[in-house]
Amino acid sequence: MPNYTYKCDACEHTWEAVYTMAEYKKPCGEPCPECEAMNTVVKAVDGFARVQVDTNHDWTKTKNLPGSFRERMNTIADGLPNSSGTKSRMKDQFK
Ligand SMILES: [Zn+2]
Repeated sequence: MPNYTYKCDACEHTWEAVYTMAEYKKPCGEPCPECEAMNTVVKAVDGFARVQVDTNHDWTKTKNLPGSFRERMNTIADGLPNSSGTKSRMKDQFK
């Protein structure tokens, strides 16, 4: 089941919870677990952190991506194990 991130707009509390695709909006209708405010819970978007690296993807077609995206991909590549050829391949294509 997918892991979703939620955020309370009132107290800035963020947390993660596992819901089915059908139920992911459920916490948005419930009080914040931290400050118990109602209607302040939103589903947070957590950027590229959870993007699955598709090792078969043709990265050469991604040259015109914004620099910020490249930086992000480089950061992700840094976190990959050295033993995987994907790391050097990503570093090479996002430099
Ligand atoms: Zn709150």
